[in-house]
Amino acid sequence: MEKYINDTKQYKITSEGKVFSMYRFLKGGKKLKRKIGLKPNGVNIAKLVIYINGKQKSVYLKGLMIKYFKLLPPDNYHQYILNNKNGDILDCSLNNLEWKINLKKKSLYYPEAFYNKKRKIIEKICKTCGVRQKIAQFNLQRGQKYTQTYFNHCISCEKKVNKNRQFLYSRTKHGKKYSKEKTKEYVEKMETSYLLRCLRFNRSEVTPQLLNLQKKKLCLSRKLKQQRLQMSSK
Ligand SMILES: [Zn+2]
Repeated sequence: MEKYINDTKQYKITSEGKVFSMYRFLKGGKKLKRKIGLKPNGVNIAKLVIYINGKQKSVYLKGLMIKYFKLLPPDNYHQYILNNKNGDILDCSLNNLEWKINLKKKSLYYPEAFYNKKRKIIEKICKTCGVRQKIAQFNLQRGQKYTQTYFNHCISCEKKVNKNRQFLYSRTKHGKKYSKEKTKEYVEKMETSYLLRCLRFNRSEVTPQLLNLQKKKLCLSRKLKQQRLQMSSK
C-alpha cells in the first residue's frame, strides 16, 4: 500500500514504513534517506527531512504512519504510545507497529484492556496483582486536557498503595516530618489570587484576617480528605 504525503504528490509513504521522493524516483529511483533525531523527551525516534514548496521540513516517520494509514489507539481511556515491536526504531512498517499503554514505571504485568463487540472496555489486567478484572474495579483519573484515563492498578491494589503511603507519612519519624513540611509548602504556595478566587472577593475588599481564614479552611479540607483516605484504606 502506498500513499502520497503531500498535495504536490512529491512524496510517497508505503505500508513498509518507507518514504520515497517521487521527484528523485523519476530521475533514477533514489530513496529518501531517513534520519534519526532525538526528541526532547530523550526517546529515539525516526525522523526524516522533506521539502515542501521549497522549504525544508523535518517530520516524524511514526507521525506519517499514523496520519496516512489512520492508526488509531484502541481506546481513549489510556495514554498510548506507538511502539516498534522488534525494537528497531527505523522499522516502522505496519506489521511492526503496535499501540502500547505508556507506563511511566516498569511493572510486573502489562495492563491490557479487553473490549466487547462495540469496542467498549469491559475488562482489564491490573499491573500490580496481574488479575483480569471487570473495568468497574479500576478508578478513573483526570488526565491531561480533561480526558479521563483508567488507573493501571485495581481499586484494592490502589488502596494498598495508599495505605503504605499513609503509613510511611504518619507512623515514622521521617514520615511525620515529611508530611509537616509538605503541608507547610502547600500553605506557602497558596497565592493570594487563588485565595481571592475561592472567596470571590476583590483585592480591595479583602482583609488579611479573611485571607488567613481561607488558608486555614483549605488546609482543614485537605486534612479531612487525607483522613478519609486513611479510613477507607483500613
Ligand atoms: Zn490489583
